Amino acid sequence: MFKINKNKWVKVRKSQIHNKGVFAKKDIPKGTYLIEYVGRKITNKEADEISEREVSEGVVYLFELTSKLTLDGNIKGNDARYINHSCEPNAESLNDDGRIWIEAMRDINKGEEITYDYCLTTDDYKDHPCRCGAKKCKKYLSLPKKK
Ligand SMILES: [Zn+2]
Repeated sequence: MFKINKNKWVKVRKSQIHNKGVFAKKDIPKGTYLIEYVGRKITNKEADEISEREVSEGVVYLFELTSKLTLDGNIKGNDARYINHSCEPNAESLNDDGRIWIEAMRDINKGEEITYDYCLTTDDYKDHPCRCGAKKCKKYLSLPKKK
């Protein structure tokens, strides 16, 4: 299991955006793998049920790994789940051979909060205002489902 206290790049602390957040411990070059998003593997069918509940709460800890398997990151020890959403993120998630990593999209300064775009879609999007503070904030955490 990945331990954040051994993580060279980031640490968890209180965030202005929401609850806890993940912050840069030092200057981070673009392209760095910051932290692995760990969890338990579940079927996509199980994931659908969890997803419905989580989206309604405005949080989602699921990453689709393959056409059959999803990673459920809502577990103790997955500090990457504390990463907040931003409409102008400095990081993104990527699937590297079946493992999910959060990668720096640009150079990140020491002390900056690590964020990525959750890319959620739900019809109840108005229930989840975004507080990321970005100039180009989309106002909501999730967007309406594409019809
Ligand atoms: Zn926003």
